[in-house]
Amino acid sequence: MPVPMLDLVAQYQSIRDELDTAMRAVIERQAFIMGAEVAELERRIADLSGVAHGVACASGTDALLLPLHALGLKAGDEVIGPAFTFFATAGAIHNAGGTPVFADIDPATFNISPDGIEAAITPRTRAIVVVHLFGQMAAMEQIAAIAARHNLFVIEDGAQSIGARRRVGGEWRTPGQLGNVATLSFFPTKNIGAWGDGGMMLIQDDALATRLGKLRLHGGATQYHHEEVGFNSRLDTLQAAILLAKLPHLARWNASRASHAAHYNTALADVAGVTTPSTDAANEHIWHQYTIRARRRDELMAHLKARGIGCAIYYPLPLHLQPCFAHLGVHRGALPITERAADEVLSLPVYPELTRAQQDEVVGVIREFYR
Ligand SMILES: *Cc1c(COP(=O)(O)O)cnc(C)c1O
Repeated sequence: MPVPMLDLVAQYQSIRDELDTAMRAVIERQAFIMGAEVAELERRIADLSGVAHGVACASGTDALLLPLHALGLKAGDEVIGPAFTFFATAGAIHNAGGTPVFADIDPATFNISPDGIEAAITPRTRAIVVVHLFGQMAAMEQIAAIAARHNLFVIEDGAQSIGARRRVGGEWRTPGQLGNVATLSFFPTKNIGAWGDGGMMLIQDDALATRLGKLRLHGGATQYHHEEVGFNSRLDTLQAAILLAKLPHLARWNASRASHAAHYNTALADVAGVTTPSTDAANEHIWHQYTIRARRRDELMAHLKARGIGCAIYYPLPLHLQPCFAHLGVHRGALPITERAADEVLSLPVYPELTRAQQDEVVGVIREFYR
């Protein structure tokens, strides 16, 4: 039985009428740019996230770039982030005029480690980009304390973590509540995906939200009046309509992913050669990815693929080793925990529509490999 890594067609078929109706409404009105659905989506996602403001933009990458641009980085200004993440995290730092400085990760959660951040701080450090990788939050309370001590701006890359929570001092905290800005991506493969690109910034501070709201509209709140030079980075009304139609299903989808993850954890527990993912006790995980460490990882991957089972390496080449960042002079060996993760990780199918039979097929093929 083939098992894809993700099945967006199955998701579409399960809510086709809702999506088609939402699209049709925008088409009938022909209100494609900054239509009413955009503001409604911003309000709904801000509410769901427990933050004051949502500002939609064209992608998760732009959601990182806009607040970094707002910092007005000068040549040589440093921004700390992980090297074990999607490229956009460091690409946005570079494109905003900053120098990426990479911190190592926590081997259990794969998230940027507070100690790694602390070790990377210099007098030139201006900001930290934290990534809540694979669906669970980084140690935000510790990172926020470090940032406060050093007067640093904190951006939380929540592209993979919409709906994730973390218990801090007895209270649930979400992306956007402990940092200055949290970012979301609506890339089609994320836990809630558009039919194209899309992103959002989550912000508590009123003035910052107003500024970022302008920066995505060429720097002006009123048409043809520009307080500063900004970008063309809007979320299409059509995409907002799709996302609004999908939003009521998000909690169920995330719960379904969590149930699949629990099943894998049990079914793979006794397989020598596989280390199942660990969830920090303070976290509620939304399982954007279910990522194991595997002995003979590349052979296992070939074995799974040969049997029609989707799997993927997120991420095979850490960002400090990318050719485009060679000029930073960070060599292999500098981030040992990151480099080891890149050699060992393998993500398995965990999308909501995955059936138990498909999951058992994945488990069976992994068992067969290590037998
Ligand atoms: C997907 C992703 C992004 C970028 O989002 P886009 O919407 O594709 O631009 C940024 N950071 C992380 C960690 C991501 O997973």
